[in-house]
Amino acid sequence: MGSETRRILLVEDEKAIREAVAAYLAKEGYSVTSVVDGQEALDEFARGGYDLIVLDLMLPRVPGEKVCQVVRSSSAIPIIMLTAKGEIEDRIAGLELGADDYLVKPFSPRELVARVKALFRRVQVTEKPREEILEFGSLIIDIPARHVTVDGRPLELTASEFKLLLTLGQHPGRVYTRNELVGTVLGYDFEGYERTIDSHVKNLRSKLGEDSRDPRWLFTVHGVGYRFGNPAEWK
Ligand code: CA
Repeated sequence: MGSETRRILLVEDEKAIREAVAAYLAKEGYSVTSVVDGQEALDEFARGGYDLIVLDLMLPRVPGEKVCQVVRSSSAIPIIMLTAKGEIEDRIAGLELGADDYLVKPFSPRELVARVKALFRRVQVTEKPREEILEFGSLIIDIPARHVTVDGRPLELTASEFKLLLTLGQHPGRVYTRNELVGTVLGYDFEGYERTIDSHVKNLRSKLGEDSRDPRWLFTVHGVGYRFGNPAEWK
């Protein structure tokens, strides 16, 4: 993981707070997407790829409590709740809904940044070890053995193709831009290499026996990059 940018979904209807918090988080190197109500928060969360949510409690359309409940029904993503109400009952209710931490307004953006960092440290420590064998139907990736089979047939992948498959396969549903894949798979950051990724993808697809018009696993996100896994699970 290391240098991978953490993505934060910020849900806050008050413009001044939203902008201040977004600016502080961005300054710390986080990638921040801001939304202004609970429905937008759920829509954006469903798109996937987030590492943490900063969630205001009092929101238009769908309240923060409901957002938290819905997110928690499918995800263990860290959530920090914000509230203008300072009552102790609200804090307890927030934590019972599955928030990991709680901040009462007014708070300093600096304090929020400190909480975000602390939460990421906690998550990192308790994160389960990665699966050693990834299974996508008939596609099996044995990571320690660096061995890949489709329908029981072993594939001969180059180191770059294996790295590419592993990167995508470890984050099913996440959209990777070509540029991200250049950095992760090839280990350098240079725009001209994006076409190199396309050719690795093409080779990988052919070895997987993929039909690019009707893929089983490796999907093109037009104008952006690639996405891997079972679309039925992305929702
Ligand atoms: Ca609010």
